[in-house]
Amino acid sequence: MTTLDGQSASEVARAGTATRVPTAEPDAHRQTPAQVADRLGVDPGVGLSTGQISERAAVHGANRLSEPTRRPEWLKFLDQFRNWLVIILLIAAVVAGAVGDIRDAVVITVVLQINAVLGYWQERRAERSLEALRRMLVPTARVRRDGTEQVVEAQLLVPGDVVLLEAGDRVPADGRLTVAETVEVAEAALTGESQPVAKSMTAVDHPSTAPVPLAERTSMLFMNTALTRGRAEMIVTATGMRTELGAIAEALRTGTEPPSPLQVQLDSLGRRLAALSGAAVVAYALSTLVRGESLSDIALRAVALAVAAIPEGLPAVLALTLALGVRRMAGRGAIVKRLASVEALGAATVVCSDKTGTLTLNEMTARTLWTAGRLYDVTGEGYGTAGALRVPGADDTPPTGELGDAVLPFALCNDARLTDGGIIGDPTEAALVVLAAKAGVDADRLRTEVPRIGELPFDAATKYMATFHSEPDGRTRVHVKGAVDVLLGMCTDVLTEEGARALDEGHRDEILAVTAQFGSSGLRVLGAATALMDGASSAFTTAALPGLTLVSIAGIADPPRPQARDAMALCRTAGVAVKMITGDHADTAAAIARELDIDGDVVTGADLDRMTGEQLAERIDDIGVFARVAPEHKVVIVRTLANRGHIVAMTGDGVNDAAALRAAHIGVAMGITGTDVAKEAADVVLTDDNFSTIVRAVREGRAIYANIVKFVRFQLATNIGAILTLLSASLAGLPSPLTAAQLLWVNIIMDGPPAMALAVDPARDDVMRHPPRDAGERILDAHRLFAIGRAGAVMATGTVTLLAVARSYVAPDTALTMAFTTFVLFQLFNALSVRADDGPLLGRYQLRNRVLWLCLAGVLAVQVAVVHLPWAHTAFGTVPLTATQWALCLGTASTVLLAELVLRAVGRHGARRSGPRGSEGRP
Ligand code: ATP
Repeated sequence: MTTLDGQSASEVARAGTATRVPTAEPDAHRQTPAQVADRLGVDPGVGLSTGQISERAAVHGANRLSEPTRRPEWLKFLDQFRNWLVIILLIAAVVAGAVGDIRDAVVITVVLQINAVLGYWQERRAERSLEALRRMLVPTARVRRDGTEQVVEAQLLVPGDVVLLEAGDRVPADGRLTVAETVEVAEAALTGESQPVAKSMTAVDHPSTAPVPLAERTSMLFMNTALTRGRAEMIVTATGMRTELGAIAEALRTGTEPPSPLQVQLDSLGRRLAALSGAAVVAYALSTLVRGESLSDIALRAVALAVAAIPEGLPAVLALTLALGVRRMAGRGAIVKRLASVEALGAATVVCSDKTGTLTLNEMTARTLWTAGRLYDVTGEGYGTAGALRVPGADDTPPTGELGDAVLPFALCNDARLTDGGIIGDPTEAALVVLAAKAGVDADRLRTEVPRIGELPFDAATKYMATFHSEPDGRTRVHVKGAVDVLLGMCTDVLTEEGARALDEGHRDEILAVTAQFGSSGLRVLGAATALMDGASSAFTTAALPGLTLVSIAGIADPPRPQARDAMALCRTAGVAVKMITGDHADTAAAIARELDIDGDVVTGADLDRMTGEQLAERIDDIGVFARVAPEHKVVIVRTLANRGHIVAMTGDGVNDAAALRAAHIGVAMGITGTDVAKEAADVVLTDDNFSTIVRAVREGRAIYANIVKFVRFQLATNIGAILTLLSASLAGLPSPLTAAQLLWVNIIMDGPPAMALAVDPARDDVMRHPPRDAGERILDAHRLFAIGRAGAVMATGTVTLLAVARSYVAPDTALTMAFTTFVLFQLFNALSVRADDGPLLGRYQLRNRVLWLCLAGVLAVQVAVVHLPWAHTAFGTVPLTATQWALCLGTASTVLLAELVLRAVGRHGARRSGPRGSEGRP
């Protein structure tokens, strides 16, 4: 809407509320956090109120970049006619109409319309499926609003919102930092700087008044960059198109996805077949010309034959198969972001899986605590605080408070919180809050009494976390928790029954023995340590940490996922190797691997560092567990496996996993625990973080590939059948068994419902009972090409023979209708034949695709109509057939299936005589 003076409605609204609603802050980087907070009318500790948010949303709109304009639907429909074959046919129809052949003109036009509607519908369906998929990956942001933390859709952010971020999060809008703990940000997308840049709360003090370059605005975070380290809070200063990214959004609009290897293969196959069909069509035209048929008849039929013979429908059905396939996968927990990954999934030979949360439940319960040389069992289940610490074998509970010091670092160096029956934060940390509660320490209360003044956030690479707290005497205390082997390297003392003592070899051995004991029962092991620092420190860095005192070790249970064992067994029969990759201790990892039946050696990250590339390549197939690995090891593992010819699926969740996810053929990110960075780098996102979902996706990938093979075989057999039928009839001196209109009708059948029903065929039961296909294999190898040629030859022989024989007994029109009907029925039987591929041709599996049977019944019904309804007689030049004639057509058409049955019986017989063959391994 535009007002009289040319202002848009939104501009008027903006002007009207300008006094109350602050607009974006271009100079926020030069201001202090307090100034920015003040100007944006927000208290960073409380966040905006609901009223403020709706008011600002009305003015600033949604926090998203404007989307590229969509092509109108009618144009997409018209695209269906932008095909040179279709254009030639339309011209042919006009010419036919002009020379008085109204019947052919009308039939061709109507058939082309039906074809266009079908093509348009296929494309639209594929597009809708993919759109629905995109909507499943809505970016969210963690915000503080009305004093509480919430997760909201990123597009609902408004200026003034307080956003909380940690390593791995994507920054959802531009903002001014108000909290920055060792923050580093990857800003390559915006500034081109490939190294992460450090950020802080300090206002930028730039000498010149000229705008500060983006790369130097170190107090700001920008939309779509990613936190690679640390923890931050920011006040949103700009949203949507007003962000720095919005300013260059036009340049960033992502292009379309490049074609997948299979698409490329099918495209080139299509082109070669088109050339071949073209030659055949010319040969056909010449042969009929020699026989002296009328030129206009020949031209029309040759063009129709070209339409029927060229597999122009393949790309559309392929796109639809992939789109529907990925939608089915999404429904089962695996969101596939790139269609090409579907092919890779079907060919995967190795799955490298994280342990925690993927193979295990990520429901942590501390089961045992070691402190001052003593072991305690921990009772109670889950995240409830009911339970206590007991001396093993006795009912003794230590006096309340006695173990307080032992769990203090666990309670304070911890960001998790317990809610009613649930948790907020990391499950490992929540288990430690529960442990502290059972030892009589209320972590929540303690955190307000002993506030944190600094921290080193947990990092999968360093494997520990540290927090700093001021002591009443002005000094600083540091609490650390993390992997025991890492802590040992930082400790100079250990808590004993007599108090803190210097850590000697004896202590060291005892601690390592406890760790090994916990680990070998499958427990996750975390140590707690603490130290007083001299003076009031403000340098919260690893280098500033003093020698620590180890106070306790906790053993935390994280049971394997119940379905993981079955999924593992399925992988074994499917020839897919599974490797566990974990940051956890080797003993813990080995114990869980045993429970899950993962075979192979256990090696650690340290072992990997000692091995040369060749040594690893030699051993890698025998390794089942990689423990204590750092994210960079994952890249080495992926590359080594890929170099050995494996197709690798690799899971990851952390910010440092992005490189490995990209290096793998199929990067799999965790939807629940995964960071934004990992999700962006991945090809597949699991909505349930579950290992079995990956295995299901592999199964689905195989089924989709098998379906692609089926409809390619189906369509090409029809193409070749049509060419051979017309050519051989012409050479035999018979009239053409198929008119132009009939050829076009056959074309609809093969591009249409039956082909699509094959594309969504349910997986065969044995789909996971053979080894993965060779990723380099061509979709049509010699074996399949031969099968296609065979089917085409049977169709041509059957149709032409029937025509020749019938002409001696019935009227010419009846014989021609019988030939046409036989050719159509051949397609129905061939659909069943290709569906079985290498499996049994007759059997229960053939009954399982109800959609296909409905389609086949539909085609049969329409064919009956085409033969028996008067209007069809005019349109297609058909005449009614008797029941016997129908039976003859059906009998002849069934030979395409019978021929396969006979061939297989002979093949099996031959195979038995020449001894067993190797495994065929064909999907
Ligand atoms: P994966 O999903 O790869 O199996 P993981 O959970 O086994 O991951 P990490 O989360 O990288 O591995 O943990 C590695 C080690 O770091 C653990 O064995 C534990 O000792 C320690 N650790 C894990 N979480 C924390 C934390 N929140 N604070 C401190 N130390 C931690």
